[in-house]
Amino acid sequence: MPQTPPDESRRSFLKSAGLGAFLGGSGLTIAGGAPAGRAAPDLVRGEVVRTGGALLEGGGWLREAEREIPVAGAVDVLVCGGGPAGVAAALAAARAGAKVRLIELNGCLGGIWTAGLLTKILDAGNKGGIMAELLAAFAAQGGRVAKRSGGTVYDPEVAKRVLEDLLVGAGVEILLHTRVVGAVLRGGGRRIAAVLTESKSGRQAWVAERFVDCTGDGDLAAQAGCGFEVGTGAGCTCQPMSMLALLAGIDPRAVARYVREDNPASSKPDFLKLMEENGIAPSYRAPTLRHLHSGIFSIMTNHEYGVPAFDADAISQATVRARREIHDIVGGLRKLGGIWADLSVVATAEQIGIREGRRIRGRYEVTLDDLAAGLKHEQAVCTVKFGIDVHALDQAGAKQIDQTWKGRGMRPYDIPYPALVAADVDGLLMAGRCISGDFVAHSSYRVTGNSVPMGEAAGLAAAVSIRMGALPHELTWAQVQAVGG
Ligand SMILES: Cc1cc2nc3c(=O)[nH]c(=O)nc-3n(C[C@H](O)[C@H](O)[C@H](O)COP(=O)(O)OP(=O)(O)OC[C@H]3O[C@@H](n4cnc5c(N)ncnc54)[C@H](O)[C@@H]3O)c2cc1C
Repeated sequence: MPQTPPDESRRSFLKSAGLGAFLGGSGLTIAGGAPAGRAAPDLVRGEVVRTGGALLEGGGWLREAEREIPVAGAVDVLVCGGGPAGVAAALAAARAGAKVRLIELNGCLGGIWTAGLLTKILDAGNKGGIMAELLAAFAAQGGRVAKRSGGTVYDPEVAKRVLEDLLVGAGVEILLHTRVVGAVLRGGGRRIAAVLTESKSGRQAWVAERFVDCTGDGDLAAQAGCGFEVGTGAGCTCQPMSMLALLAGIDPRAVARYVREDNPASSKPDFLKLMEENGIAPSYRAPTLRHLHSGIFSIMTNHEYGVPAFDADAISQATVRARREIHDIVGGLRKLGGIWADLSVVATAEQIGIREGRRIRGRYEVTLDDLAAGLKHEQAVCTVKFGIDVHALDQAGAKQIDQTWKGRGMRPYDIPYPALVAADVDGLLMAGRCISGDFVAHSSYRVTGNSVPMGEAAGLAAAVSIRMGALPHELTWAQVQAVGG
């Protein structure tokens, strides 16, 4: 049978899909389907504004038609992103009496804790408030709490349930499967008034008095026009991404030598040596095996270098590579037989772990100088103890960068409240890894034991500032605490 040439079949598909206007050249209107129950004039959806003859190859530019967006809801405090920071922000704001909605991209709360399968909370030991409450709840509902090797191990599935229960109990309106895609400003463009989202419900607008950006990557703040920094050096190089996974089929006693919490001193080099002696070369040179409970383990053996956090195509390729690497490594270990004979992957993370996105410009920037000096600040929302931790920035293993920065020393330092308050837009706070800080400081404060108290502080400040009739930047942390603490 004669084969249709690929180009020809693609053109046929486009025509039958109603996109034939692409083929006619520039300046033509694109016709789309009318929404159910709406009149015919709504058919026009946009136009081709520049083709450069490349539309069919994925080039050129289209202009979307102006459209009206339904305002789907109005609350006092809108929290964008439901990771460790976002969950704490929503909980704190709701407990302070605000009507709160939390919008999250994934199908669960928890961010890196759950969709990312992290399994260990660092730098939580000196934290009270919501962080202490969460650790107790994770433990009480079945997760093993192991305060060894400087952190707490938890079960991501337990975390999902705990976070949902807490937020539902506090009256937070949770919206999952929804991406924040835009911001609407008022008051001469300085005051954030609404966010735009995309989901199965279509494009929607959400109005609020205060907003907290807990997207990790600072999506909302960037959409609102805030200034930000990314990565380090001329190339804005970010820390590598890593995919994590859950494993089963090994005996905890038999593999204890390779388990981080059982053998903190040499589990990583021992595990790497075992792999390398058997022809396995993990892209992360400090492979980490963690025992959760019963027969469940987690593993981190992957680094994806130089992947920008804002390039969906690059992230997709990294995700596919990383997942393949995990399965290949587990398959390689299984082939060793003996204690590894039944090793299997229970789950890979739905979301590859992103260490670094935007660092939004705030009213205070946490810097390497603050770490070296052990900053004590009168507006401290929490104290960070976790040290500088810059993973290798390229495959060659440029870990010496980390050592250079560590050379200045690091002492426990405070995160000041103004580092959570956006400098360029009013009514907007940040919490978690997107707060205002430099590259090196971020490598330290980014861990989740700090994201939670930052979120708690931002949520409280958002709620209290409404009650006080002031904007977040017009208040000090002492004033916030006096009213809401
Ligand atoms: C591989 C890896 C290992 C790490 N190891 C540890 C460790 O052992 N212990 C530790 O404590 N920390 C660790 N960290 C650091 C820590 O996980 C992060 O810095 C932490 O996730 C910060 O919390 P967050 O709430 O700011 O961000 P995230 O956990 O990234 O949460 C952001 C949330 O926002 C959502 N979101 C993003 N964009 C949008 C949008 N546009 N609309 C709606 N929702 C959106 C995301 O889906 C996510 O749920 C690790 C990080 C990585 C990547």
